[in-house]
Amino acid sequence: MSDQKKGVRLEHLSKIYKDPKTGKDFYAVHDANIEIEPGEFVTLLGPSGCGKTTILRMIAGFESPDEGEVYIGGEPVNELTPNKRDTAMVFQSYALLPHYNIYDNVAYGLKLRKMDKATMDEKVKSILKLVGLEGMEDRMTNQLSGGQQQRVALARALVIEPGVLLFDEPLSNLDAKLRVDMRTEIRRIQQEAGITAIYVTHDQSEAMAISDRIIVMKKGLVDQVADPKTIYYHPVDEFVADFIGEANFLHGTLAGKSGDEGVALVEGQEIEVAGVGDLEAGSKVTLVLRPEAAHLADEGKLPCEVVLSRFMGHYQNYHVRCGDHVVKITEFNPKNKHEYQVGDHAFVRFEKDDLHALAQEG
Ligand code: ATP
Repeated sequence: MSDQKKGVRLEHLSKIYKDPKTGKDFYAVHDANIEIEPGEFVTLLGPSGCGKTTILRMIAGFESPDEGEVYIGGEPVNELTPNKRDTAMVFQSYALLPHYNIYDNVAYGLKLRKMDKATMDEKVKSILKLVGLEGMEDRMTNQLSGGQQQRVALARALVIEPGVLLFDEPLSNLDAKLRVDMRTEIRRIQQEAGITAIYVTHDQSEAMAISDRIIVMKKGLVDQVADPKTIYYHPVDEFVADFIGEANFLHGTLAGKSGDEGVALVEGQEIEVAGVGDLEAGSKVTLVLRPEAAHLADEGKLPCEVVLSRFMGHYQNYHVRCGDHVVKITEFNPKNKHEYQVGDHAFVRFEKDDLHALAQEG
């Protein structure tokens, strides 16, 4: 199946809806410009209502854009109906035929294409093997577990060999443990099938685990498009930093800079920062510090008082007060480390390249 994967390009794509409460038009998606490579796994990530599903539905052809163009495999598709777009969608609800067995569910799209029986049998068999349902052709779909139903839904989409596979929150109806197993499965299957995948989720750990690149959306706007590491270590703003993982925001002023290095004043302390980029000396800055990059020590950068100390098994969770800031610290493998208690005075320690500097917002 690997030779038919297609790229997707969105150019100045917008969708306007009417707010049912106010009756006013608003942009559910505003000026999205995204290029997805053939064979890439890309996730649309963001809080509820940010426009993820609307983008997916415009790619599939279930919604038409008010502005802009969708290209699939280099061809403009705005004028094409969903079945002519070479895409297949896996829905949250699975959308299976309940009174049919697995074979008939999976073969459905092939029958519509009037494929001969022998080729169809062959294809269904190989797809069921790929999704881990080998030999289960005769099982009725209403007698399957949620995870198995999801595999059937995936097989139905894959069997027609689409150029692009679209996923609309496919794991939302599964329990937490199964979600984690299934996301690994979806990634494996996508890589084995060598297919382009576009996946909607509001679960940041799912997006991190599964994606080549993540598209973070905020209120109809594409906020950042990058691989998971870049998103995590170099978020473009506080929204992205806060949405992906946990973050401390240290507010201060960039007192001076030399090339890419700078010194910020935070709570009256001089803090060295690597990678200040275009930020200007004298400007207000926010330093993003991940909890696992911060440590509690008898010497360090920021004096603090411990306000919470909690043993969590594989880590010790601290909250410490440094002036106006409360800093969260995750101390992994705490077994052989000194355990600080509430009320202790200590220091927050971190390296200068563990800080990511942003221009202060608002
Ligand atoms: P969720 O994670 O909750 O599914 P989402 O990011 O996928 O959210 P969308 O479903 O794309 O968000 O919706 C974006 C915005 O457009 C929301 O404010 C939603 O209420 C609104 N919206 C979606 N469909 C319609 C519609 N058919 N008519 C009017 N407003 C709509």
